[in-house]
Amino acid sequence: MSNAVLLQAFEWNLPNDGNHYRWLADSAPEFKRLGLDAVWLPPFCKATSNFDVGYGIYDLYDLGEFDQKGSVRTKYGTKADLLHAIKALQAEGLQVYADAVLNHKAGADKAETFAAVPCNPDNRMEQIGKQRDIRGWTYFDFPGRKGKYSDFIWNFNHFTGVDYDDKTGEHGVFRILGENKHWSTGVSSERGNYDYLMFADIDHEHPDVQAELHRWLDWMIRETEIDGIRFDAVKHIEDSFILDIVSSLYENWPEKNLFLFGEHWIYDPDASNHFLEQTEYKLNLFDVALHFNMHNASTSSDFDLRTIFDNSLVREHPDKVVTFVDNHDSQRGQALESWVEEWFRPHAHAIILLRQDGYPCIFFGDLYGIGGKEAWPHSHDTVAELIRLRKRYAWGDEIDLPTDDHEILAWSRSGDEEHPGGLLAILNSGGYKELEFTVEQGEPGQPFRDAMLHHEEFIRLGDKRSAVFPVKERSVSVWIPAE
Ligand code: CA
Repeated sequence: MSNAVLLQAFEWNLPNDGNHYRWLADSAPEFKRLGLDAVWLPPFCKATSNFDVGYGIYDLYDLGEFDQKGSVRTKYGTKADLLHAIKALQAEGLQVYADAVLNHKAGADKAETFAAVPCNPDNRMEQIGKQRDIRGWTYFDFPGRKGKYSDFIWNFNHFTGVDYDDKTGEHGVFRILGENKHWSTGVSSERGNYDYLMFADIDHEHPDVQAELHRWLDWMIRETEIDGIRFDAVKHIEDSFILDIVSSLYENWPEKNLFLFGEHWIYDPDASNHFLEQTEYKLNLFDVALHFNMHNASTSSDFDLRTIFDNSLVREHPDKVVTFVDNHDSQRGQALESWVEEWFRPHAHAIILLRQDGYPCIFFGDLYGIGGKEAWPHSHDTVAELIRLRKRYAWGDEIDLPTDDHEILAWSRSGDEEHPGGLLAILNSGGYKELEFTVEQGEPGQPFRDAMLHHEEFIRLGDKRSAVFPVKERSVSVWIPAE
């Protein structure tokens, strides 16, 4: 899909009313009208309670069908609502992506006693106590589901670590001991070894676990008929296992042309490159570095806008990248808070929507607000207009327009045969300026207007296709041919 746009169709603070799937189904025509092409659903498996966003995952096979963890439905509705929403979105021509949480499990049915060793939370390779028997919540037999779809029962052998000893009431990082048991080595090296993230950490090197997760992925695709999968927390999962499941998915579902992407949350181009290499470039990644650059640009007073793509994946791996401004984790109050400040959000959206590289993902909050409140003034209309500009004008050659002003980022798109006209995007992080640019598109005398409506006047190109363009304080102007 050329110039496609993805919507992250949830945020952290959605109300726990079980209505979200119905809202998604009802919104399908509106999503299409906005120019969206795909929807990333919230994690849809039963979690610790229906207040859980879904990352505290309990049962992979309960999509809101069994009376478990206090209700049949999840935060977002029942399985029937989910399947109806997927159908309704696909009927409008939208692709639908699932969110697969495979790193851990939460809310076990029983505690078990097993040998473990406490590790330093800041360096998990360091043991900070003696081996001992602890009581950990690791036994999952899903009494509410009664073996439907899968009779696999999880126990401590299927996990590498837990964060709680029920015997002593002690919290920490406990590594489970046993034959062939160790932290996975193909994970992030932060904190010594970042296999352990939270809850009961799944052992992806256990053959029974591998088989069960392969089974689940194929079952889930058959049940839901989704078009792609976002893999949660991949830097905490053995990378050879990621390569294994991604390869199997492409092989088992060749006709589906699945779009597979992962959350590898790190600002370190070497670590990202290493992960891409280990997974043989089969998994697309979110551009976390670009997100942090945009966050920094929005919070620091002297950021050089011309360096916004430094260390970004979109510069290095332009066809492997989902670009985004913020998500449910980086939004205010959440675990990875690194919110792009309001004044810079038009800039950030212009960066992900009007350039040629990357598959832009729009955060729910930027179109529909957060916690029932508008995310930032006029956010919906600004983002909707930038999506419209992407679809109509952001085509053809891209030229970065040189400037010696560190508060300016400017580029042009030439347009192509099918989408003539092109555009000139000028992003300003400083005060009012007037800047001379020469563009490739248009003829001398051609009038341009600002689609973002910061300027009413038309600007006409001079003899050499150059003109002086005004830019308001801390604003984005997108100059398109005036018809
Ligand atoms: Ca892990």
